[in-house]
Amino acid sequence: MTDLTSLTLAEARKGLADKTFTSLELTDAHLSAIEKARVLNAFVMETPDRARDMAKAVDEKIAKGEGGPLAGIPLGIKDLFATKGVRTTACSKILGNFVPTYESTITSQLWRDGAVMLGKLNNDEFAMGSANETSCFGPVANPWRRDGSNTTLVPGGSSGGSASAVAALLCMGATATDTGGSIRQPAAFTATVGIKPTYGRCSRWGIVAFASSLDQAGPIARSVRDSAMLLRSMAGHDPKDTTSVDIPVPDYEAAIGKSVKGKRIGIPKEYRLDGMPAEIEKLWSEGAAWLKAAGAELVEVSLPHTKYALPAYYIVAPAEASSNLARYDGVRYGLREQGKNIHELYENTRAEGFGAEVRRRVMIGTYVLSAGYYDAYYLRAQKVRTLIKKDFEDCFAKGVDAILTPATPSAAFGIGEKSGEDADPVEMYLNDIFTVTVNMAGLPGIAVPAGKDAQGLPLGLQLIGRPFDEETLFSLGEVIEQAAGRFTPARWW
Ligand code: GLN
Repeated sequence: MTDLTSLTLAEARKGLADKTFTSLELTDAHLSAIEKARVLNAFVMETPDRARDMAKAVDEKIAKGEGGPLAGIPLGIKDLFATKGVRTTACSKILGNFVPTYESTITSQLWRDGAVMLGKLNNDEFAMGSANETSCFGPVANPWRRDGSNTTLVPGGSSGGSASAVAALLCMGATATDTGGSIRQPAAFTATVGIKPTYGRCSRWGIVAFASSLDQAGPIARSVRDSAMLLRSMAGHDPKDTTSVDIPVPDYEAAIGKSVKGKRIGIPKEYRLDGMPAEIEKLWSEGAAWLKAAGAELVEVSLPHTKYALPAYYIVAPAEASSNLARYDGVRYGLREQGKNIHELYENTRAEGFGAEVRRRVMIGTYVLSAGYYDAYYLRAQKVRTLIKKDFEDCFAKGVDAILTPATPSAAFGIGEKSGEDADPVEMYLNDIFTVTVNMAGLPGIAVPAGKDAQGLPLGLQLIGRPFDEETLFSLGEVIEQAAGRFTPARWW
């Protein structure tokens, strides 16, 4: 039998349906891969007993012909998703050993459809970061290395554990979240596929909140088809999240292989940055050429407010975070550091429980929302956000079906290269330059592996779609995937 962990989700579905192997065998293969890959630090909690119990139960269902669309498929869950009875920390010391008494809507839908949970995946603390270096469980290693080098690279963030685990064949897919790029940037750094659906497509209920008007969950997987399969189970209306939208979930998989003839693809000139590496530029033109060869039409478009997106994001996201994180006060959840009075208890708990990046965001957020500065910063950033959204609307109004951009301005970098005491946090923030606009506008965006840089590291392209038109992204994404081929890291762990 071929190594079960190297199958795609679609291949595993077939093997399970044909009874070539059982979910228990598939699950055991992944559990042993996880054990051998602890050096990657992708999992912060392994749940082997639960995984085997879930697999056995689903095997019985499959035998009776009652398996759901993800029956028997082992997945990893980002530690931002509340999992009933299983520790959920958002990779922050402040949540301590918090064990939720409820299950997030998204994970409950995955279990409803037959998926198996292998464990909880590492992420940046409260999903704040682009390198998975702010986690209280330590950094995650990217399974990819530069050709001929032993330097350990970051997997991107904040969903670094999800991307690393999927790329290293530790799980067949993973949940992730994206507030400013946290699905797409790690996908690009690890040659995996990541889609951030339209804001409102997936329920946020039971996901630890970072910036509620930007947060959106989605899958990271090894192929476009696999990500379509996962999104179908994750998406859907949920009365428990008032921002979730009540429209039917299409069969996303049906979009794979659909002709893209006549689709108009916008190439935004503002994404051509000064000093952008030539190889990113080349990748972008190659991607455009592949889509053209498949019958799409390329048009140059303008998104004039692009350059304000990152600064505006770093006002809106911290503002919402400072408000969302006010609940971690030492009284209700996790960590408690005593003090002489209640104020000191709050201060001591928050100073001890939050890491440096989270404290920075809370301070920025509190500042931009404060009485004297609210109009100058927060209100202005909200206006900029409206203009960014309008740029995209104007583009779509002219008949553009999707927009093609690079996913990131560079390939993965070394652990510590952009963090540490002396590092300028803006260096790290610049990673999200191509992805934050999409969150600001609430649009869907997919990152698809498209090539490698001169050092052998994967690079990704991003496709941005109309609201609730994830299907077009899957169709176009698969064209890129077919042309670029698939990329697997050489095993060193
Ligand atoms: N890297 C961005 C940040 O640090 C985005 C994170 C995310 O999407 N969760 O805020």
